[in-house]
Amino acid sequence: PEYKTGVVVTTTGSFYTVKVEKETFVCKVKGSFKLKGIRTTNPVAVGDIVSIEVGEDNNVQNAGWITKIHPRSNYIIRRSSNLSKQAHILAANIDRALLLVTVNYPVTSTTFIDRFLSTAEAYNVEAAIVFNKTDIYDASDMEEMQKLRKIYEGVGYRCFEISALANKGFEALMDYIRHGVTLVSGHSGVGKSTFINGIIPDAGLKTAAISEAHNTGMHTTTFSTMLPLSDAEEGYIIDTPGIKGFGTLEFEKEQVGHFFPEIFRLSKECRFNNCTHIHEPGCSVLRAVEDGTIASSRYRSYLSIFRDGDEDSKYRSAY
Ligand code: GDP
Ligand code: ZN
Repeated sequence: PEYKTGVVVTTTGSFYTVKVEKETFVCKVKGSFKLKGIRTTNPVAVGDIVSIEVGEDNNVQNAGWITKIHPRSNYIIRRSSNLSKQAHILAANIDRALLLVTVNYPVTSTTFIDRFLSTAEAYNVEAAIVFNKTDIYDASDMEEMQKLRKIYEGVGYRCFEISALANKGFEALMDYIRHGVTLVSGHSGVGKSTFINGIIPDAGLKTAAISEAHNTGMHTTTFSTMLPLSDAEEGYIIDTPGIKGFGTLEFEKEQVGHFFPEIFRLSKECRFNNCTHIHEPGCSVLRAVEDGTIASSRYRSYLSIFRDGDEDSKYRSAY
């Protein structure tokens, strides 16, 4: 048989669409794939790099079987339900995550931003902030945006300013997302759909076409889709309908400081190596908060996530 390597661009439960350069194959899974230690409802996720065995299936052109999942650089999971121990893999091999925010329309809180960024750190996904609706910012909104930019660029996150409605500011952002797989998130109302339709004019058409071909009678919202940016670009956008961000993630409260890069960097200078940066003497993080090197809003977010951990000794992300 003939073997090819491609990327999974849609999943519907039993069928997977695999893109191999310009060609698309409709595949089923051959054999069973498991993640260590977690039971998952789907063996294969969008973004997975897979080997396929090309084969003819009754009436289906370009049919094949997925025979191998290549090692993932990361993956995003969501627990299927509170009762079940099963997890759903939302996407794999994400290169970056964009958080669309607006200063006032609606307001995106720094707590929300910091929860998103720390979850991205935990998943080992690069994150960036996109300020949208800059066309309607007044002087004080602009000032607020500059303040936030200073904080987040200071930590090391890239920031972009756009108006999705006016197609403004897309060039720099497109340069950033041109290659690889980009997850787009944001509060509802910040302009996520406007943005995606702005950079992918036929995004709506493409999703409709996919659901007609493969998702007949199924709830498309439970499945992820990767939208190719355009034929000319190599990149993809992942928009997971109904999911605001990253799915559920749990981590030990002692780890929370690892996911705030500026806190993590300074924690090596704390007197105690298990310092929680809350009350300990000789804490370099507390000193930096006092002298303004660490933004107080960032420290407040750290505390709030840390204290979430008190409930059942785990931090549960709000996404
Ligand atoms: P979503 O819920 O994040 O997908 O948000 P939508 O894309 O549906 O946008 C919500 C509202 O904000 C709509 O009325 C859009 O027209 C508006 N909107 C989106 N982007 C912009 C922008 O850049 N500037 C302005 N002024 N309005 C925008
Ligand atoms: Zn400390």
